[in-house]
Amino acid sequence: MAIEDRGDASLITHALATDMLTQLRDVETEQVAFRKGLVKLGRICGYEIIDGAMETEYVSVQTPLTETMGQRVKGLDDVVIVNVLRAATPFVEGLLKAFPRARQGVISASRDEAAGMDDDGEFPISVDYVKLPDIEPEDTVIVADPMLATGSTMCAVLERVLEGQPDPEHLFVLSAVSAPEGLLRVNEAVPQAELLTVAIDEELDDDGYIVPGLGDAGDRAFRTTE
Ligand code: URA
Repeated sequence: MAIEDRGDASLITHALATDMLTQLRDVETEQVAFRKGLVKLGRICGYEIIDGAMETEYVSVQTPLTETMGQRVKGLDDVVIVNVLRAATPFVEGLLKAFPRARQGVISASRDEAAGMDDDGEFPISVDYVKLPDIEPEDTVIVADPMLATGSTMCAVLERVLEGQPDPEHLFVLSAVSAPEGLLRVNEAVPQAELLTVAIDEELDDDGYIVPGLGDAGDRAFRTTE
């Protein structure tokens, strides 16, 4: 299994995940390759979640020749994926290849960059649009955002996801790159969340960007800056 416990988070160490992340980090990777890279990374992460966290069961199967035993993954119909707009959109497209029957939620949450980071390393967050399916206790919920920076946005998102809902069987917060500060903040605010990431980077800069990071994932995927 290519998921390693690193204390504050579990690291997805699959060689293709780290390969893809390296391509995403590269400043020369242009919009289309960047977006496709996020899709591929989402798919790999989805497969790793299945491999690392979901149970399988033995079932009998009738082949064209005979009856035999096979294995199926349990719980694939009990998956909820939450897309944190907008950078998560291609990431979620990849996750859906691993979980094609997932119920989906969408949350538009963004930090007020103009207000800047306060002394506690937090941004004011505005949550503009929330559409979530009901959560059942047997569900595996995956809240996806490729960049977990200060954790302010993710904490606001998780508050809305869990509001009035039962605790699901698994609550994964999935990111491509995380900052130590963000992991700490989410762990403190929502201890039942299982944090999964492909890389834990060094630090945040004064603008709340992850260093070394990969820049602004939304801008690079949607080409909103040159
Ligand atoms: N969001 C991004 O897209 N990149 C960062 O480094 C931090 C937040």
